Amino acid sequence: DLVRIERALLSVSDKTGLEALAAALVAHGIELVSTGGTAAALRAMGHDVRDVAELTGSPEMMDGRVKTLHPRVHGGLLGVRGNPEHMAAMTAHGIAPIDLAVINLYPFAATVAKGAPREDIIENIDIGGPAMVRSAAKNHESVAILTDPAQYQGLIDALAEHAGATPLALRRQLAAAAYAHTAAYDAAVASWFAFADQGEAFPATLPLALTRVETLRYGENPHQSAALYRPQTGASGVAAARQLQGKALSYNNLNDADGALELIAEFRDAGPSCAIIKHANPCGVATGATLAAAYEAAFQCDPVSAFGGIIALNAPLDGPTARAITEIFTEVVIAPDADAEAIEIFAAKKNLRLLLTALPDPRRPGLALRQIGGGMLVQTRDNAAVSRTDCTVVSARAPSDAEWADMLFAWTVARHVKSNAIVYAQGGSTAGIGAGQMSRLDSTRIAAQKAQDAATRWGWAAPRTVGSAVASDAFFPFADGLLAAADAGATAIIQPGGSIKDAEVIAAANERGLAMVFTGQRHFRH
Ligand code: 5GP
Repeated sequence: DLVRIERALLSVSDKTGLEALAAALVAHGIELVSTGGTAAALRAMGHDVRDVAELTGSPEMMDGRVKTLHPRVHGGLLGVRGNPEHMAAMTAHGIAPIDLAVINLYPFAATVAKGAPREDIIENIDIGGPAMVRSAAKNHESVAILTDPAQYQGLIDALAEHAGATPLALRRQLAAAAYAHTAAYDAAVASWFAFADQGEAFPATLPLALTRVETLRYGENPHQSAALYRPQTGASGVAAARQLQGKALSYNNLNDADGALELIAEFRDAGPSCAIIKHANPCGVATGATLAAAYEAAFQCDPVSAFGGIIALNAPLDGPTARAITEIFTEVVIAPDADAEAIEIFAAKKNLRLLLTALPDPRRPGLALRQIGGGMLVQTRDNAAVSRTDCTVVSARAPSDAEWADMLFAWTVARHVKSNAIVYAQGGSTAGIGAGQMSRLDSTRIAAQKAQDAATRWGWAAPRTVGSAVASDAFFPFADGLLAAADAGATAIIQPGGSIKDAEVIAAANERGLAMVFTGQRHFRH
């Protein structure tokens, strides 16, 4: 299964690593054939190169749109070496076999990313390159195909080991990578057409160009395997975060860190803020005079759940915050940056993972995908925001300024809590969070119970639900949930409204002297 390489065709936009590769090919006596820019680069390195135009007898034309689309190229790549008819056709038409193709494509994604005009983007759709990649990969029984400079060294080593030949196992592996490469390339082109050029929210077929970043130790559970994928360019968020230290990230770490980052991004302009996440739900969120104070306040909300949590910060991790965080076991800390003192403190905690990444814009548009049996559900991301002026006061008593602040804080957190979500907040920190219950009343009670537990734990005279505002991610279907919140000491309620029982719920609020506002906007999160 070894195939000795006699002739190589090189056509690369990205000339990285070309020099070492070409030197190795020449050392094995391999003939080089190349397109315009690549040939010039090889000649500049002092190599003898045959122009592809000479091979085809046809010049490069139409601004390079047509340069390698020719039977002498594709026949040389595709002809089945052991097949007498194929070999006869090659002889009859003057087609010489090509045993190695080294091709990387016009930089389409990079051209889009730099904001080039439409004509430049179109001109950077490579045609002949992918055709050659696909031809060479199809004929991997005889032909090796390189599409990425990262693969060059592997080929150089194989040639050294096998006296200028490639083994079949390597060619198969390269063929698989080649088709993944052209698939991702065309997906990027299709994405641009659908989303950028045509402005479609939901194209007829979903163009997804995702590349594997790494395989993970395991999935949500140890008996599941897992991997992380991200777009080839324009990567952002948790998938693009820089890990400064700690054990490898697990599937659950990444999922939780994503929720943590999205939540803390809401507090971009809120002064020092901290969110602690457990199982994709926040168990404490707070703002503070300092980052360490914000962390302490977030931690106080539910210290039992915070153990082994994921902490997100909206400002660079500093020494005092790092010191406070290391007092208990934490899985991951994610922040925009970290100062030298913090890095030194964390260095003593070898397993603690520290991720650095810029805060995303919480209002950015985008699609959210979820797999269901046999298909995919796609929706626009929940990027809506509610401000004081969007709300309608529906109670007899208007909220005080302090209540407004607590309500909007609770509302912002509630958007990031799994439904049914109930969040009590006071003075810039959560007092109790009820998440993921099938009954809203249960969430209301659980959140109040957690606040009571915290009060007991810290020796407070009363739980922080007393005098708090409470947010509900969807309307109260009955007055019972609202009454439970009032019993816990809440004085203000923020909720979407829209229940057929709204009148009853409003009457109950008035009876208990609560201020209540409707946002008109629901934030289910499942
Ligand atoms: P060079 O820098 O050698 O002039 O061009 C190399 C680039 O041209 C590579 O990215 C390769 O994929 C691309 N290419 C090779 N043949 C063709 C062709 O026939 N049509 C188009 N559009 N691109 C080609």
